[in-house]
Amino acid sequence: MVRDFATLAAFNRVPAPVFVLAPDGECTYANPVALAVLGCPPSAMALPDGTEGPHQGSHTFHRADGSALNVLLSLSPERLAAGTLEGWIGTWVPQAPHTAAGDLEERLRLAGAIFEHAVEGIMVTDTSGNIVAVNPAFEEITGYSAQASVGKPPPIFGANGADRAAADRIVREVEAAGRWSGEVWSRRRNGEVYPQWVNIGAARDATGATTHHVTLFSDVTALRASELRLEHLSQFDQLTGLPNRALLLVRLERAVAQARHSKTVGAVVFLDIDRFKTINDSLGHAIGDELLKALALRLQARRRAGDTFARLGGDEFVLLVEGLGAAGDAATVAMELADALAEPFMLAGGSTLYASASIGLSVFPEHGIDAAGLVGNAEAAMYQAKKEGRATFRYYTPALTQALHARLEMETRLRGALERAEFLLQYQAKVDIDGKVTGAEALVRWQPQGSAMIPPNHFVPLAEDTGLIVPIGDWVLWAACSEARRWLDAGHPTPVAVNLSNVQFRSKNLVRRIRDILEESGLPPWLLEIEITESAVMESVHEAVAHLQALRELGVRLALDDFGTGFSSLASLKILPLHVLKIDQSFVRGLPDGKSDTQIVRTILTMAENLGLEATAEGVETAAQLALLRELGCRSFQGYLLARPESAAAFGARLGLA
Ligand code: C2E
Ligand code: MG
Ligand code: MG
Repeated sequence: MVRDFATLAAFNRVPAPVFVLAPDGECTYANPVALAVLGCPPSAMALPDGTEGPHQGSHTFHRADGSALNVLLSLSPERLAAGTLEGWIGTWVPQAPHTAAGDLEERLRLAGAIFEHAVEGIMVTDTSGNIVAVNPAFEEITGYSAQASVGKPPPIFGANGADRAAADRIVREVEAAGRWSGEVWSRRRNGEVYPQWVNIGAARDATGATTHHVTLFSDVTALRASELRLEHLSQFDQLTGLPNRALLLVRLERAVAQARHSKTVGAVVFLDIDRFKTINDSLGHAIGDELLKALALRLQARRRAGDTFARLGGDEFVLLVEGLGAAGDAATVAMELADALAEPFMLAGGSTLYASASIGLSVFPEHGIDAAGLVGNAEAAMYQAKKEGRATFRYYTPALTQALHARLEMETRLRGALERAEFLLQYQAKVDIDGKVTGAEALVRWQPQGSAMIPPNHFVPLAEDTGLIVPIGDWVLWAACSEARRWLDAGHPTPVAVNLSNVQFRSKNLVRRIRDILEESGLPPWLLEIEITESAVMESVHEAVAHLQALRELGVRLALDDFGTGFSSLASLKILPLHVLKIDQSFVRGLPDGKSDTQIVRTILTMAENLGLEATAEGVETAAQLALLRELGCRSFQGYLLARPESAAAFGARLGLA
């Protein structure tokens, strides 16, 4: 049967009676007009015997109030593709009632009332095509008065009045089938063009000859607008107004075909905003959304005409570039995009944000011809760029797909790692100038069942991207604090240092969580040192100061890790409430022979002293390095020369614990 929703919805709008019959003659659907005229669905009817083509003939309906309605009935069969009869679609036009004059008068009066009050425009034309009558709704919709219209051809078909051919076709169809319905464009008296849903029926006399055409129409502008909006929603991203993934794939498919045909090259440039999650989590989704919008606007403006800039979701964007001469040209495009991001974003709330993107490139037809595959390849290249230090771009190679799969697999394993208790901590001693242990840094390791120990550099970035770093980091804090509490209980109060990732540093309730962990483990705050990296601070110095201040108020010590690798200015260092600077091992490595490294380390040590900060040198591996560091005035050291990271038990033994 006609189960198709769209068809029924269309029937519901038709300003003429429509009903549907099952093959056995039972009515299964009647539209609002049919229901209004009859007061109930048509009762079951005997169908034309044996014939299964369209059928026309007189029929008498019985209304709900018991009265009879004589009509000229049209039935057309609906068949499945295989040809089986599914049912009939029926409609009717009133037939001159063979009834008493009084009844006729009553019906004319009713017809007149319908004509006057219908919301649809109604227009009656004679056989020469001139208007005989129009109703008030006609005047309202078209802007033409009845007076100005009668006696003239209708202002209906073809917005520019030039579409005579279409109008003639419609008239021919009305002649042949007795009716026509469809959508046409029309122009109002004020010049405005608008879509109409039109239904035309032929009025015939007793001999069957057409005397008039009756046209019913409604203005479907609002309907069209909402349909267009729906279509837009399904193809465009709501936040940025950019094409979405679905539309991108359609355009990419076309672009690939075009490139193969014209022997040109195209590229899928996949952008992922670096550390977007951090921005979103720390500054809030409203700011995150604003940044995405500003970024979309800026990049959209830089794209060349004909290229498509789409948002796939979250902080992922794709630029589809067409008509390149060679694969290498895509790199220029990627660099232009990266440049466009370099300028800071001034957001409405007054915040200034710096953004960078990791960019992956796949080139077609070289790297594939399947649209979804090309996007996936560009994504794999993007991950590689991210891994190699962000704010950079990489081309796709097949090995990258392998890497992407490995990453996805690792992500799955990482998700369950906490429950399976697969993390452990090692402790690396910090020593003073006399070689005495003054503290320990807790370093996390991942030991999945049945495989080798995984160092933090291999899984922390992934944990940051997925947000898993927050629960993992909480566990690290808890485990380190509990261990340090045991040292305290054994009579060896020794500070423990814990590394905090940028994501953790900006996570909600960080201070409260650290306070809870200290309380739970029973560790006095002064025995906990929090290490944050320079990059975490530099993302937003202002915010960092507030966070650090709150941590300092808890009573914990604060260290700036990997110092010298970021770009802290002296000015920002001065306002950060720190206790310790940890000189990055990359400078220590160059000692004692590297002139510039020696110079840098000396400068850092002087600076630390002036700011009243303690300085610890990381990565001390040789006696010569240690000697020079001492000479330069450093008093706190960490490195393989003095102690490697070791188990809690081994470090405990170093402290003299049983
Ligand atoms: P980091 O905080 O700078 O930690 C020092 C790293 O240098 C450690 O590597 C340590 O094993 C290594 N190291 C120490 N002495 C020497 C030396 O003399 N020579 C050399 N070549 N290396 C030395 P590890 O344990 O692989 O950690 C690497 C980084 O991972 C850490 O750098 C830290 O940023 C991060 N990390 C470690 N544990 C955690 C954690 O619990 N949470 C977070 N968010 N990050 C962590
Ligand atoms: Mg550290
Ligand atoms: Mg470090």
